[in-house]
Amino acid sequence: MFVLRQVQSANSNVKVFFKNITKRCTHNFIQLEVDGENLKFPHIWLRDNCQCNQCFHSTAKSRIIDYSNLKIDVKPKSINKDENTLHVTWDDGHTSQFRIEWLKFRSFTQENQSKYYESIYKPRRKRWNGSEFFQVCSKHNYNEILQSDKALFHWLHNISVYGIALIQNSPNKEDALDEIISRIGFSKETHYGEKFTVQNVQNTSNVAYLSNKLQLHTDLPYYEYCPGVNLLHCLVQTKSEGGENLLSDAYYTAMYMKDNYPEQYKLLTGIEVEWSDIGTENEKQFFKLYRSPIIVVDSNEDIIRINFSIPQRGSILSCPVESVTPWYEAHKLFFDLNHKFAAKFKTQEGDILVFDNIRLLHGRNKYEDRANNSRKLIGAYVDWDEIYSTWRCLKVNLYPHSGFI
Ligand SMILES: [Zn+2]
Repeated sequence: MFVLRQVQSANSNVKVFFKNITKRCTHNFIQLEVDGENLKFPHIWLRDNCQCNQCFHSTAKSRIIDYSNLKIDVKPKSINKDENTLHVTWDDGHTSQFRIEWLKFRSFTQENQSKYYESIYKPRRKRWNGSEFFQVCSKHNYNEILQSDKALFHWLHNISVYGIALIQNSPNKEDALDEIISRIGFSKETHYGEKFTVQNVQNTSNVAYLSNKLQLHTDLPYYEYCPGVNLLHCLVQTKSEGGENLLSDAYYTAMYMKDNYPEQYKLLTGIEVEWSDIGTENEKQFFKLYRSPIIVVDSNEDIIRINFSIPQRGSILSCPVESVTPWYEAHKLFFDLNHKFAAKFKTQEGDILVFDNIRLLHGRNKYEDRANNSRKLIGAYVDWDEIYSTWRCLKVNLYPHSGFI
């Protein structure tokens, strides 16, 4: 049993002392010392996150608190703590209980938030340049991904961290991608269909269907909800020279520009480009437009999306006329640097190349397309939402100690 002692301080804060634990209730926080760490929890946050069955639905894992009666200035009337649980009675008459481990996992210290981010939110990305490609591009077995959750997790983890992973030994059939995608969830359909075939087609609506060099690009930048990951299954590879894949980690290039060409980097993060795709596919017309910079950053200045495509970049540039030429200089620099940092390699029949479509640029060298020397790929997309969701499910199931508390 702990003995509770309350001391009324000069500024009316209530100080509560326990054996080995110091808790201080300030105006806005309850402070707890847990395992030597001083953790602060705002009153309103605790009240909002009460885990009792009137405030939180445990099976739906959803907050059901009556928000109309929530007081932002809610205060504790009494605080009690035993070895594993914090008990709070509030001045609105409600009582809450929180497990100490649960609180610690959600604490506001930078260290705990960073730990949570990596263990549950998303794996941290590691950027690479072309010379490191063969170290970062992990190889995975098709059947193992279908049969083993650990193999599936390992594959998804590597795509998240490096933006690239190769699946080998896939069956030589046009629907081989379906089973892989069903292990994650479902694919992302676009106006080119649920799956698309890349091979030389005359009078095509898309330049990817030609055998010319395909310059580095991201797919479908004209989508606001841009497909996150690209899966390209190599069914037939050309035996002649050419047809190599080009891949560049544009996240690496962008950070390189931020460090070495900050002005140009700023132009690419600030000026919106109008991306477009206009045409007809399967007798259905489409007219896609979306405005977004080349490098999209969030409020923490983290890069969250790259848009790059020479053919799909429209002619509308929504910026002052004086910014146009500097923007082109920055854009050309980004293009040249990506080519400089790009890796070049040729997939084999049975390979599925999987890469982050909003991070990496991909392209292909020119190849010779003849009757007995062709190249055929089947492609599909999956959204990052589905990949991260499956990654998290696997993480908490396979590694419960590092999982969600
Ligand atoms: Zn409650």
